[in-house]
Amino acid sequence: MIFGEFDIRPLSDGTFRLDGGAMFGVIPKSMWEKRTTADEKNRIPLAARPLLVQGGGRTILIDAGIGDKMSEKSADIYGFDRVVNLDTSLAWAGVSPEDIDVVIATHLHFDHAGGFTVMAGGRPRPRFPNARYIIRRGEWDDATHPNERNRASYFAENYVPLLDAGLVDFVEDDGELLPGISVLRTGGHTMHHQIVRIDSGGRTAVFAADLLPTTAHIDDPWIMAYDLYPLDTLAYKKSFVADAIRGEYVIFFEHDPTVAAGIIRQEGGRKRVEAIEMSTASR
Ligand SMILES: [Zn+2]
Repeated sequence: MIFGEFDIRPLSDGTFRLDGGAMFGVIPKSMWEKRTTADEKNRIPLAARPLLVQGGGRTILIDAGIGDKMSEKSADIYGFDRVVNLDTSLAWAGVSPEDIDVVIATHLHFDHAGGFTVMAGGRPRPRFPNARYIIRRGEWDDATHPNERNRASYFAENYVPLLDAGLVDFVEDDGELLPGISVLRTGGHTMHHQIVRIDSGGRTAVFAADLLPTTAHIDDPWIMAYDLYPLDTLAYKKSFVADAIRGEYVIFFEHDPTVAAGIIRQEGGRKRVEAIEMSTASR
């Protein structure tokens, strides 16, 4: 997608499955099963879609999917299907791992940061050796001091090797990282979860990460049970979605199994997503 001075492409690191009840929090199954289909283990299909942003002489990757370091047990629990993965979809985009200049982390959960490192010589090493990895300081502190509630999502092998290699730049505050590209802390999902906003040619695109993981999450109370601070998600989402409707933002949905990007419309009291067609490489 050409977006002002940027070329933006949703990539794919395959698909996985999470418990439908956990994905929709307080919403009863009788309601959420109208928007998705659960399997025999009550899991719903999800995508892992990092975003490739090229422009201003830079190649930027936002999140990097699950990666290939997960155990067989996890692969069974989460139903990973990585036949199409970040390597294949980067290759389709004509980009090699060495070409990536900047990697931005929305947060450090394994389905976003798993692809930041790769096993080489029996050790996890940075997958994008020429990149600066931009990580929120508070998220780093939480990810390196996990508790009983968030431990299953944080694996040091996904990010500690980046610091050891001297590739991490910490951000403390909201603001522009590069011309036209900003990060905004949403909180909610994790205390320091952030989204990435791209402004160009008078328009706004947002990589919403786990603020709006799928198009089914655009309604206010549809909030994941995974969120550590659901009322913060609610407050941020209400004002964000109102801005997105007014500004006709292009929203990238990182986990939606079918809609990679779309514009939120409101008609009467109902919100819906008008999908934007993407090339097959994004699926
Ligand atoms: Zn996620």
